[in-house]
Amino acid sequence: MRAAVFEGTREIHVRDVPEPTLGPHDVLLKPMYVGICGTDLNAWQYGMFESGVTIGHEFSGEVKEVGRDVTKWSRGDRVVPNSLLPCGECGYCVKKRYSLCSDMQMVGISMNGGMADLVSVPEGILYRLPKSVDYRKGAMIEPLAVVTRAFDRAQLEKGTTVLILGAGTIGLLSLLVAKDRHAGRVIVSEVKPARLNLAKSLGADDTVNPLEESLSLRLESMTGAQGADIVVECTGAPGPSSETFKLVRRGGTILVLGICEAPVEADFMTGVLNELNLQFSYLGYAEFPKAIQLVNSGRINPAPLITRVIPLERVVEDGFELLTSPSCSDVKVLIQI
Ligand SMILES: [Zn+2]
Ligand SMILES: [Zn+2]
Repeated sequence: MRAAVFEGTREIHVRDVPEPTLGPHDVLLKPMYVGICGTDLNAWQYGMFESGVTIGHEFSGEVKEVGRDVTKWSRGDRVVPNSLLPCGECGYCVKKRYSLCSDMQMVGISMNGGMADLVSVPEGILYRLPKSVDYRKGAMIEPLAVVTRAFDRAQLEKGTTVLILGAGTIGLLSLLVAKDRHAGRVIVSEVKPARLNLAKSLGADDTVNPLEESLSLRLESMTGAQGADIVVECTGAPGPSSETFKLVRRGGTILVLGICEAPVEADFMTGVLNELNLQFSYLGYAEFPKAIQLVNSGRINPAPLITRVIPLERVVEDGFELLTSPSCSDVKVLIQI
């Protein structure tokens, strides 16, 4: 069978590999659609993943076969796997802080993931995909769980002004979640015009291109010099990450979701004087059912974020190389298996 195997920096290859073996509590899946995530792009650019692993942690699939002791699942079931396998026993897991687990396994990162004809996963990480949620939307559940968790942590209140920096998948899902939670006004800042247009069509109240105008001046004119109640950092770049301190109002919250490789300069004096809340958020785990429910109910429609669907053979050229080129305006690229 075919699998996209991670073999080091800029080394991802579609190889012929043996079919997975099935333990008594495992389920054999045929992946349907698999998203390429920013984390995958980081691995492509900087290493990080275990060499030899099949990548892909954002995916939907169909059950092909079940292990001897599996009772809950059967052939033909439509599912979404959780991307995390926390140990369930460490101090963090006991406190339900699963994303901090000291012995965590991650699908498509430390164990084989979905960019393959078949993948075997433990039965316990599967969720049923309702009929109304197609397989493409199913591949968007993982990033939606990440954003759902982040907004739970930031405790967004009704009517607040939200400024989102970066309109990639996480930024645009933040827009949808902020709207769903009745934010008063959602402003999106992004340097790529195509992404700004997408943000507008998804309901952003204002959009700003910081290459064309000063974001802080524009924000000042919109909010009367106060700044945003919540600034959501989704660029993962040092410049915008530092700027958040200037864009948030007194007593407001900086919610950081972007993963920045380089150190970020932080204006702690402003932070103290303005009593800012600096909230970081990493991954999603317990939020998967909530994310499925949000899509199933129609409250969140992640489909417009899918800007390209490609076959597995093209994963490097039309996936990783395209998404890491500076001119790329795509948001979510899905692999159709
Ligand atoms: Zn991801
Ligand atoms: Zn643990």
